[in-house]
Amino acid sequence: MLEYDLIVAGGGIAGSTAAKFATRGGLKTLLVERRKTPRNKPCSGIQFGYFEKILGEKIPQDRLCNVELKKIKMILPDGKSVGSPFKMFNFMRKSFDHWLNILAQDSGAEFIDDIVCQSIEEQKDQILVNLVKPKEKKDMKFKAKYFIDATGLRPKIRSQLRPEDFSSDFEGATLNYYIDGEADLDQETLYQFWNLDWNNAMFAWIYKKTLDDRKDYWVIGTGCNDTNVNERQEKFYNHVKKEFNITGEIIKREGYKTSMNLHSKNRVWLGRNRILMAGDAAGLVDPTRGVGMDSAALSGRIAAKAILKAERKNKDVMKIYSKMMKDITTLTIRNQEREIGNTNNNEELQEYIEKTMLKQGLAMLLQLRLNKFRRAEKQRLLPP
Ligand SMILES: Cc1cc2nc3c(=O)[nH]c(=O)nc-3n(C[C@H](O)[C@H](O)[C@H](O)COP(=O)(O)OP(=O)(O)OC[C@H]3O[C@@H](n4cnc5c(N)ncnc54)[C@H](O)[C@@H]3O)c2cc1C
Repeated sequence: MLEYDLIVAGGGIAGSTAAKFATRGGLKTLLVERRKTPRNKPCSGIQFGYFEKILGEKIPQDRLCNVELKKIKMILPDGKSVGSPFKMFNFMRKSFDHWLNILAQDSGAEFIDDIVCQSIEEQKDQILVNLVKPKEKKDMKFKAKYFIDATGLRPKIRSQLRPEDFSSDFEGATLNYYIDGEADLDQETLYQFWNLDWNNAMFAWIYKKTLDDRKDYWVIGTGCNDTNVNERQEKFYNHVKKEFNITGEIIKREGYKTSMNLHSKNRVWLGRNRILMAGDAAGLVDPTRGVGMDSAALSGRIAAKAILKAERKNKDVMKIYSKMMKDITTLTIRNQEREIGNTNNNEELQEYIEKTMLKQGLAMLLQLRLNKFRRAEKQRLLPP
């Protein structure tokens, strides 16, 4: 049976980043991905400047969308809007995650796609990892000293270890329409529409995105923490269509739902023994900040570093990982407590945004500057 120092399940942001840094540190690492790559992933694919520092890489131009996002415009529940210049990375996850898979392999990690991590068995000094190649109906078992679950919002191993964190009814969903047409909107702006009728978890959105044909499309989408995403999306789409003279056909509908119990107090969980959770699997996606790729990459990088440190010092990896993750988990848990779903109506939401906006904006500018001087593992996730 093949043996590794580390097996990472999930070839997304967290898993690929963890595999790359672990291998660079000298660990014999296997990265497994359920889907055939490159694979699609429903995600807005927007990140802040410090993301490159966390990844430890400059993102090549050909992995980015044609349109660069340079501004944010917030449309408040009462219809008033506030805008500000703000540069962001804009990419499609298919091409981006494929690049991360390649970086992990270039560092020396073994990579197998089209293979499902089914379960693990905790043994005395090792973890037995059960994998299945569905098409070939072939089972495989590998052993590793450490294991990282980076399988996203429906994390396979976390659900094996902590079934109580999951609900049988789905708890959240998002839906995007890709429009091949015109709109009275600025294509370099990310539009955020704050209104509980359209999105009760964060904001509804419009921005431009490049598909595989390298053509640009308007993406109009929303999400929620209930089962009404279709209804909310239709309401939102009809509103913006009129408001911004959006013409053209919907050429693609893209939806996503999760069964992670998003309301759980224990949403953030970093793992146990030598089994580490990273990214969405650790519950780090943060609807209040509106993003999750930065915490996914950062937790992947920190997980790898924690394992390397534990090996070097012969210490408990979970203690090291939890300590190194403290700032991120504290921020995520604090934000969970003040999610916009906790406001009862649009008037309260309006008041909440107006009260916090200026402070948030200034803190954001300050932390962006300070991040330039902080090392990668100490990046402050934004908005603060
Ligand atoms: C609609 C939408 C829009 C978003 N927009 C943004 C945004 O603009 N900016 C931002 O920062 N974040 C955004 N997010 C959040 C972001 O997508 C996630 O936080 C991020 O992808 C988490 O990365 P991850 O590596 O933890 O998980 P993922 O990227 O989900 O990767 C998990 C990987 O594991 C694989 N996998 C799953 N099960 C198994 C298994 N059993 N065995 C092997 N492999 C498995 C999956 O196929 C996948 O490739 C958005 C999310 C959604 C749903």
